[in-house]
Amino acid sequence: MIQDLELVRFATDFLENNGGLVDADPDGLHALLPPDLSVALNLPEDVCLGGNDYPLLYGSPTLDRLVHAATAGIPVAYGAVTIPYIKKAGFDTAVNRDLSFVNGKVQIGVHAESRTTYMVLTSRYIALSDERKEGLMRLTFHEPTGAVIAGFEDSVTDFECTYFRQSHLPPQFSTRIGVSLQTALKSLQDRITEDMAPFAASMCRRLHRDVTNTREYYQSLAEEMQASLAHPNLSDTQRMERQQKIDGLPAEADRKISDLQHKYDTRIGIRACAAERYLVNVAHLILTILYRKATRTLPVFYNPVTQSIDPLVCESCRKTTRRIVLQDGKTHFVMVCPACSRA
Ligand SMILES: [Zn+2]
Repeated sequence: MIQDLELVRFATDFLENNGGLVDADPDGLHALLPPDLSVALNLPEDVCLGGNDYPLLYGSPTLDRLVHAATAGIPVAYGAVTIPYIKKAGFDTAVNRDLSFVNGKVQIGVHAESRTTYMVLTSRYIALSDERKEGLMRLTFHEPTGAVIAGFEDSVTDFECTYFRQSHLPPQFSTRIGVSLQTALKSLQDRITEDMAPFAASMCRRLHRDVTNTREYYQSLAEEMQASLAHPNLSDTQRMERQQKIDGLPAEADRKISDLQHKYDTRIGIRACAAERYLVNVAHLILTILYRKATRTLPVFYNPVTQSIDPLVCESCRKTTRRIVLQDGKTHFVMVCPACSRA
């Protein structure tokens, strides 16, 4: 079964952060879950995730339960953003500035005022290695698609907002956002990993330095001991013992190096800690995309908070992209990100 590595990593991190023991092999993730986690996820305590019984795929019930558990109990605020003016013209400029269709043409069709929802997700992350580093990450995503909307979380504070009580929520706040939440959590994980890159690189440099020092230490120790074998006062037994020690040095060095690798291994734990969901009046445009002789319509949103057209989600890997490559799919053409178009 084909595994999405990001999803496997998300599941591994989540289970390990919650007391599970996880072992990955080609069949899937073998996990031993503590009883309360097993009940919360409605999974056996000894379970193989990612196989046919419990597939780890977008939209699969197992992944849905993991995402739900990862976000359950976090406080959620609901608000409607007051937008004083909705853009009514000049969409050609905005579309050409904010989206690029690499090998196709785009025609801008009708537009209408509409409402859509965005979620600002605040997560705390902790990276553990020889040192510990923690931080908060805020990321906004468009709920219907899962596209990451850069800068929304900062700009939204410039607008007035009316908050709703949990018991009086407008129906536009869908409860079925599991799939986009999965996409968003994956983007969040990517972003945190990017953020952690200097930290991971510094741990890697230290590991490299310590490994080099360890090798050099054992190398010179071996040379010293080898030279001492020539000492005339050494008895045969002593010489044999010393030779055995010399023979054991490479294995000892390997053990030390493996300890070092363990010491500098970087593990990142991510926990969602708050969510704000916003209802926003937007301009809803219908684009017509032309590729060779085929056409497809594509709904896009002009977002008044960021004052730009929201990016799209790659139809293959679901990553957020503003640069879209068109290519032949099974029944119609597909819109993918540059990375997927080369794959
Ligand atoms: Zn892609």
